[in-house]
Amino acid sequence: MQKNELISVSNEMCKKLLSIIDQEEVATKEKVADYLFESAQIIMNIKEEEVSEKGFAKTLFLDAYKEIATQSLSSYASSNVKIQELTKLHEETLSKCQAQHIDLPALTSKFDEIQTLMSYEVQKANEIITELTSKVKQLEEKSNLDSLTKIYNRRALSTYLNKICSNKELPYNFHLLMLDIDDFKVINDKYGHIAGDKVLIFVSNILKKTLREGDKVFRYGGEEFIIVLNRIDDKHCKLITNRLLELIRNNKLIYKNDNLSITMSAGVTNFIRGDTPNSLIARADKALYQAKKNGKNQMHGIK
Ligand code: GH3
Ligand code: MG
Ligand code: MG
Repeated sequence: MQKNELISVSNEMCKKLLSIIDQEEVATKEKVADYLFESAQIIMNIKEEEVSEKGFAKTLFLDAYKEIATQSLSSYASSNVKIQELTKLHEETLSKCQAQHIDLPALTSKFDEIQTLMSYEVQKANEIITELTSKVKQLEEKSNLDSLTKIYNRRALSTYLNKICSNKELPYNFHLLMLDIDDFKVINDKYGHIAGDKVLIFVSNILKKTLREGDKVFRYGGEEFIIVLNRIDDKHCKLITNRLLELIRNNKLIYKNDNLSITMSAGVTNFIRGDTPNSLIARADKALYQAKKNGKNQMHGIK
């Protein structure tokens, strides 16, 4: 990381820390220590060559989510206080009734009052939920990371491919792999959508962990992933792809005491001078189609 980048990250963190202290009614030493600890973790996890892309996207994304969570927590806290007050009113009304003869009109009007206040609170909470949901959506639209799997998303893929395909003097060769989970619909149908989501996270982690620094993995859509392997020849690309497929095949994911066996198919192609992101992806897609046609759980390459 360059010195000026470090300075700007540190400045940013200082500003954020001061604003957190400013916002908190009681800013405790622990909160400041927590913030500094998390910041240190973020800095330690930034990979040198990814500072401009992933490191900052991740920091921004996490910070913004934290801000939204804090906002929603404080609004729920204030709703809770209101509901506590209403419950107290409710109890007082009931105890008054027990002490005297029941004054039905007064009781009805008191309960009407409580009811109105309750609906007002619920309506306010719903408005907050709608507002926060739309903020999360806006954030996701700006981010380069997929919110479920925390790997790069399709937007990041498009930026990255545009950059390398348009570089007329790209000094190295690269390969593009399109991977698709086999019979994923069956997993969703049999175990439910949550299990399906866990499989996506599981697969993303295996792909991410196995690749070398400098290789990129993106979630292309649903259960499809794209990997860009840089500086590699056909033979090694084939070896790596088969190793990835084998790792997925041999890693068992336990879900509710059941062993989920997962396999993937891969379409592989290499960059040819003059390729556009679309032509490259179309070739990998064609290769993937062939791998599926040949029986899935395997790779197919098109040059
Ligand atoms: P094939 O082996 O030919 O690839 O079959 P498949 O069942 O994997 O493919 P198909 O395209 O029929 O089904 C893909 C399924 O992926 C359908 C869709 O509901 C599911 N899916 C897409 N995105 C998500 C997601 O984010 N979470 C979950 N749980 N399921 C998803
Ligand atoms: Mg698919
Ligand atoms: Mg599939």
